[in-house]
Amino acid sequence: MNPNQVLGENNPFEAMHARFDLAAKKLGLDEGFYHILRTPDRELTVAIPVYMDDGSLQVFTGYRVQHSLARGPAKGGIRYDPNVTLDEVRALAAWMTWKCAVVNVPFGGGKGGVVCDPRKLSMAEMERITRRYIAGIMDIIGPDRDVPAPDMGTDGRVMAWIMDTYAMHVRHASTAIVTGKPIELGGSQGRIEATGRGLQIVTREALQVLKRDPRTCSAAVQGAGNVGQITAHFLAQMGIKVIAISDITGAIVDEKGLDMPAVRAHLAKARTLEGYAAGERITNAQLLELPVDILVPAATENVITSRNAANVKAKLLVEGANGPVTAAADKILDEKGVFVIPDILANAGGVTVSYFEWVQDRMGYFWSEEEVNQRLETMMVKAFNDVVDMARRFECGNRIGAYMLGVDRVAKATKMRGIYA
Ligand code: NAD
Repeated sequence: MNPNQVLGENNPFEAMHARFDLAAKKLGLDEGFYHILRTPDRELTVAIPVYMDDGSLQVFTGYRVQHSLARGPAKGGIRYDPNVTLDEVRALAAWMTWKCAVVNVPFGGGKGGVVCDPRKLSMAEMERITRRYIAGIMDIIGPDRDVPAPDMGTDGRVMAWIMDTYAMHVRHASTAIVTGKPIELGGSQGRIEATGRGLQIVTREALQVLKRDPRTCSAAVQGAGNVGQITAHFLAQMGIKVIAISDITGAIVDEKGLDMPAVRAHLAKARTLEGYAAGERITNAQLLELPVDILVPAATENVITSRNAANVKAKLLVEGANGPVTAAADKILDEKGVFVIPDILANAGGVTVSYFEWVQDRMGYFWSEEEVNQRLETMMVKAFNDVVDMARRFECGNRIGAYMLGVDRVAKATKMRGIYA
């Protein structure tokens, strides 16, 4: 339960549209293309009947949305969460379109979701849901059509089942159908850490802009999954004092700085922060208002809203999650002078290394971790500078700067392709 949710601010697709509209206006996008880019290309809803371990039959709902294919195959994760809605998947798909364009990888944007609670499913049930869902969306995915990846509630193991199910249907091995796979199945070195590493890179760049030394900064991180946990680890490695981290069960805080290796060891064993002995317990809502220099929301959407934005004390907000800030909260953060690194830039390290994975799978030739990290560094720094330049040039915040950069690239590709009639 998120106490800061505000009625009318919750719909992520509307939140995406609100920012898109501002960017489109500043870019002077003509009306026809404005409507094209606002509308998802394709949406598929599938029923997923599955026998549960107790013998009962349950029907889950799955979605796959392809927002844009203008710049390449759709690309985007698959989310398993009880709160997945079609509008959420639409928003996440559109964010992938802008994100891929911001880091300039040759993909469009897509996203998938299954309404289920992975914490309540056995491994065998997860596998049956995954395989049936993939069979259901089989016609629209493929290495040249739409390439899924992990998101909340899914991981490398789920990606392996996706690859196998797809391979069984097409009757040949196809590693490039999905990214975020285990290394043994054509995954890329550095993919698991990529989103967190990208967040570290943009945080470092932003601290340079703000003329702050990381070793004098403190941070709080919401979320202890792939993105939150790994980002917290990398920030601590930079010398930043990470004083709080949370998961769905709440947060732990230690003003002296958390012992990140100990937190990670506990998470690896218990898979939850519950039971971690050191530090104090606070709520997720309290974590967001801690007096820290850097705040990294890396769990879910709509956690900073018009209700709590004024209470955010951090001067640097680095969006690990997609859509953690509502459109109404943007204005408040701008007025407070918070330097925001928006989701479509900040967490783009994941899709960037997913792109590297897809390239390596297609070549059948794999890079060292050093090479992957070096290429990621180059692309994230370039995207960061492009966004900050855009924001300066058009006298807007980084979020609208990032949207302008992404929307402009997609609009140009869409116009060049023309309208097939
Ligand atoms: P994950 O499932 O690995 O971890 C999610 C974390 O958030 C867990 O610690 C969970 O307990 C916590 N959480 C879930 N619901 C919560 C709630 N309501 N309140 C507080 N905490 C909650 O997921 P992830 O892959 O780390 O993804 C997190 C966010 O980052 C999502 O918004 C996702 O779209 C985004 N993202 C992920 C990637 C990636 O590579 N995995 C890339 C880009 C963006």
